[in-house]
Amino acid sequence: MNMKHISEDDLELYAVGALSELVAERLEEHLLGCSKCQERLETMDEYVRAMRMAAERIGRDERGRAVDHVTRSVRFPAEGGRSAHD
Ligand SMILES: [Zn+2]
Repeated sequence: MNMKHISEDDLELYAVGALSELVAERLEEHLLGCSKCQERLETMDEYVRAMRMAAERIGRDERGRAVDHVTRSVRFPAEGGRSAHD
């Protein structure tokens, strides 16, 4: 069996729920038969969870930046030069 393994990118998108249904389905099919990718997904899941927690903390610090927004597009929009420090 030489199926292609799931790419790191797809795995990450899947973990945050950002894949389209069709792609997610295919990915799940592969996951069912591939313990290696299952393990990778678990690792990715933990990573995503940690990132969410960090994002929440940052969100709280900066008053109300939506966590969803952060996890979906991972980088903050650099809006016009207002520093967080005061
Ligand atoms: Zn695999």
